[in-house]
Amino acid sequence: MMNNAKSIEIDGSSGEGGGQILRTSLALSVITGTPFVLENIRAKRAKPGLMRQHLTCVNAAAAISGAQVEGAALNSQRLVFTPGKLQSGDYEFVIGSAGSCTLVLQTVWPALLFGEGTSRITIKGGTHNPMAPPFQFLDLSYAPLMRRLGAPVQLELKRHGFYPAGGGVIEAEISPAAATLAPFDLLERGALRESYAECLCAAIPRSVARRELEELRLQLGWQEDQMRQGEARQNEGPGNALMAMLAYENVLEVFTRLGEKGVSSEQVARSLAGEVRKFLAADSAVGPYLGDQWALPLALAVWRTGRGASYTCSPLTQHARTNFEVIQRFLPVRITEQQVSTESRTHRVQVGCA
Ligand code: ATP
Repeated sequence: MMNNAKSIEIDGSSGEGGGQILRTSLALSVITGTPFVLENIRAKRAKPGLMRQHLTCVNAAAAISGAQVEGAALNSQRLVFTPGKLQSGDYEFVIGSAGSCTLVLQTVWPALLFGEGTSRITIKGGTHNPMAPPFQFLDLSYAPLMRRLGAPVQLELKRHGFYPAGGGVIEAEISPAAATLAPFDLLERGALRESYAECLCAAIPRSVARRELEELRLQLGWQEDQMRQGEARQNEGPGNALMAMLAYENVLEVFTRLGEKGVSSEQVARSLAGEVRKFLAADSAVGPYLGDQWALPLALAVWRTGRGASYTCSPLTQHARTNFEVIQRFLPVRITEQQVSTESRTHRVQVGCA
C-alpha cells in the first residue's frame, strides 16, 4: 500500500539531540501514518548515529507497521521512515547487546495501543541499564499510569540483563486502547503510603547488597523491614542495581543507581539517597523521568478525546522539552509549561488541543 502522506523533516541535533527524538518520531509516525526523515541522528551524543538499541527501535517500529526504511544500519545518521499499516500480533525483538529493552518497548507500546488486537512482545537485551528506565520503573511506575489512562498492559521480567553482558528478557502484553484512552490531571502525588528499597545482585558478592541497603537505610532513616534483597539469579549477572520505591496515593516513583566497578557500595547508596531526598522535598506529582515519559501517552489521550490535561513535574528537563517539540510536530496538540512558583523547581505541563 502506498503512503502518500506528507513527510515531516526532523533535525536530530535539536534540543537535547539524543535518541528520544528518534523513538518518539517512530512511535508517532506509526500511529499517525506520517512518514519522516530524520537527519543528524543523536548528533549531541559522544557516539552519534544509531546504536544497537536505536536500530532495534527502528526495526521494531518497521516490523509492526510494514514500513519502508532507508538508513537502518548501525551508526547511520540519517533515516527515512515511511510507515504502512499497523499490525497487532506476536513479535520478538533482539537487541543483540545490553541495549535497553525498556526503551525499545516504549517505542512500540504507544503504537500498539492503536492496533486492532492484543499484541505480545518479547524483547531481549538489557533490563537494568544506565540512562534508561529499569524494568521495575516501567512495571511499578509507568504501567499503572498507562492503565489509569485506559491502556491495559501486563509486563513480565523473565530474565535480568545488566550492562555490559545483556541477556535479559522482558515480555509485554498490550491491549488495544484507541477507544478507551482518557486523559486525566496528575497535579499532586498525594500522601506517601509506602517506601522501600530493593537491591539486585547477580554474580556479585551478597555483601554488596547488604552494604548498599544498610547505607541507604541510614541515609534515609528507614527501617530494616523496608530494605529488600531482590531476586536476580546468579547466572543473570554480573550486575547490581539499587532501587528506591516511593508509593504515593496517585503515583509510584522508582529511583535507581547501578553498581559500577570502582564505585563503593556506600557511594552508590549515598548517590541514590540524594536523589530520593530531592524528590521527597519537591512538591510535584512526578519526578524528572516520568516528567519526560508521560508527555507522549498523555498527548495521545488528549488527541483522541479532544480534552486537555496537565501534570506537575520537578525538575523539568531539557530531555522533556525536546520530547514536547517532537510530539507537537506529529500531533495536533499544544504543550505548554508554567513554573508553579519562583521558589519551586516544579513546572505544570499542560497538554491541550492545538
Ligand atoms: P540515547 O541518545 O543514548 O538514546 P537519550 O537521550 O534518548 O539517549 P536519555 O536522555 O539518557 O536518553 O534518557 C532516555 C530515557 O530514559 C528518558 O526517557 C529518561 O526519562 C529515561 N531514564 C533515564 N534514566 C532513568 C531512570 N533512572 N529511571 C527511569 N527512567 C530513566
